[in-house]
Amino acid sequence: MADNTSLTGASLLVDALQANGLNNMYGVVGIPVTDFARLAELKGMKFYGFRREDSAVNAAAAAGFLTGKPGVALTVSAPGFLNGLTALAQATKNCFPLIMISGSSDRHVIDLDRGDYEGIDQYNVAKPFCKAAYRVDRAQDMGLAVARAVRTAVSGRPGGVYLDLPAATVTDTVAQKSDANIYKVVDAAPKQLPSDDAIDRAVELLKNAKHPVILLGKGAAYGRGEDEIRELVDKTKIPFLPMSMAKGVVPDDSPSSAASARSLSLGQADVVLLIGARLNWMLSNGEAPLFREDAKFIQVEIDATEFDSNRKIDAPLQGDIKSVLQKLVPAIEEAGIKAPQDWLDLIAQDSKKNNDKFSARISASEAKPTLGYYSAIEPINDLMQKHPDTYIVSEGANTLDIGRNLIGMQKPRHRLDTGTWGVMGVGLGYAIATAVETGKPVIALEGDSAFGFDGMEMETICRYHLPVTVVIVNNGGIYNGDVNVVPDQLGPTVLSHDAHYGDISKAFGGDSYRVNNYAEMKDALEKAYKSGNPTIIDAQIPASMGKESGHIGNLNPKLDLSAL
Ligand code: ADP
Ligand code: MG
Repeated sequence: MADNTSLTGASLLVDALQANGLNNMYGVVGIPVTDFARLAELKGMKFYGFRREDSAVNAAAAAGFLTGKPGVALTVSAPGFLNGLTALAQATKNCFPLIMISGSSDRHVIDLDRGDYEGIDQYNVAKPFCKAAYRVDRAQDMGLAVARAVRTAVSGRPGGVYLDLPAATVTDTVAQKSDANIYKVVDAAPKQLPSDDAIDRAVELLKNAKHPVILLGKGAAYGRGEDEIRELVDKTKIPFLPMSMAKGVVPDDSPSSAASARSLSLGQADVVLLIGARLNWMLSNGEAPLFREDAKFIQVEIDATEFDSNRKIDAPLQGDIKSVLQKLVPAIEEAGIKAPQDWLDLIAQDSKKNNDKFSARISASEAKPTLGYYSAIEPINDLMQKHPDTYIVSEGANTLDIGRNLIGMQKPRHRLDTGTWGVMGVGLGYAIATAVETGKPVIALEGDSAFGFDGMEMETICRYHLPVTVVIVNNGGIYNGDVNVVPDQLGPTVLSHDAHYGDISKAFGGDSYRVNNYAEMKDALEKAYKSGNPTIIDAQIPASMGKESGHIGNLNPKLDLSAL
């Protein structure tokens, strides 16, 4: 290292990240951050190079969710920054902690709008799309800048932070390293506890509940509340329902799971204990008929402005989930609260009815000579029950919906999916970071359309030889692939149904399988799992399969096209 390299902004940035235990970086290099990434590697960080910035930033977001520390992403200026910005916004919506660092142009050129290579005012563009944006203009401020970014990303409601790194700061120097004041943030996400009054209010509501339910969101997974939540369910037998990324906080096969009786248990609940979930569009904004008009809500949430965002919260419990539950669960136990038996019987009956229907559907699909959603996905569920420490990433419309129901999770934070925006194109970035951060096998279950958004990251998976199996359920289209509106033109939802996606894996040295029935799918998945090699499984299902917009068709405005 040249004499003063260790005194540059670039070097100090690496030091500050490392001082805060951040040793992985996901990104795409170019002007002005290429040497910064090289230096990071030389100083002991791991840099994972991607093909597009959105995937890299998605990877950092997944790392944040999985580790509870901010994931770190790196992009070049203007276009690279803008490509990453979507993922930064998504991470912020999802409450995943992350720091996106982008190289940027020098201020004096940008501020007078003189026209620069890849130049825009990134710092101000980023602000509405993240929790906070900071720009570090001097090497001497690096310790503070990173401390601020770390603190902001993980404290309170977690989210994405943008850190603007002008080219001039990369090479700016301090006289000695101590001038940059680098330190590890003390207690980056301090505990927060609700008052005794707030606890009493919640206990009182539960005491009188005839139809209580617990609704778990991905905040419960992120907040590492599993021990307390499992105890709560175990002691009170109150039925629980997980949102998709909360699956596994309590094992899906728990007798207290009301997932198979979702409409009934939510629709008849008189007291809902909401833990780390927002009453947003995914929960009908808290409205009827999903919930009773007169249902009472207890909400465990770190961000007080979330309370009453959609309906009255009768017992707000502000704090971090783990601390709140450490106070709430003993109080509930002391009050001797148990779910009424007739409520449990009602849910059990409805669950059995729905489970029988579901099993019949799975068996029928498995018995068919051709592949369908159920027969393509059920082998993944079988594998997960045998190897519950495998991670699942999932996106698509029908593929996501059916996989969410079919794949039982036993461990918390083992499922990542389209999240709060229900967005496509997160799959491979999430899968890459999951494999990197956990060292465990990952299955990325993708619709063919979803895969297309970030399919080139298969090269990244192969380059780092990650144990990721990408299962592409191919019906040749967005939703499905057999609807041409105009006879001589491909319909807007149509994609290539006869595609050999597996060849993308082969091109980079990975494995591939093409499967057309249940037995082939099961076999391919087991082989892929055993090999630990990067793999694509092309699961061919008919182009006619799949509902438009999956389970959220109600959000899709419909026009009467037959009149034209
Ligand atoms: P889901 O999509 O699974 O319903 P959401 O993302 O809508 O979940 O809700 C997660 C909620 O959890 C957010 O409102 C967020 O502020 C909250 N949250 C995140 N981390 C914590 C934590 N450690 N303690 C308490 N609440 C948290
Ligand atoms: Mg499709």
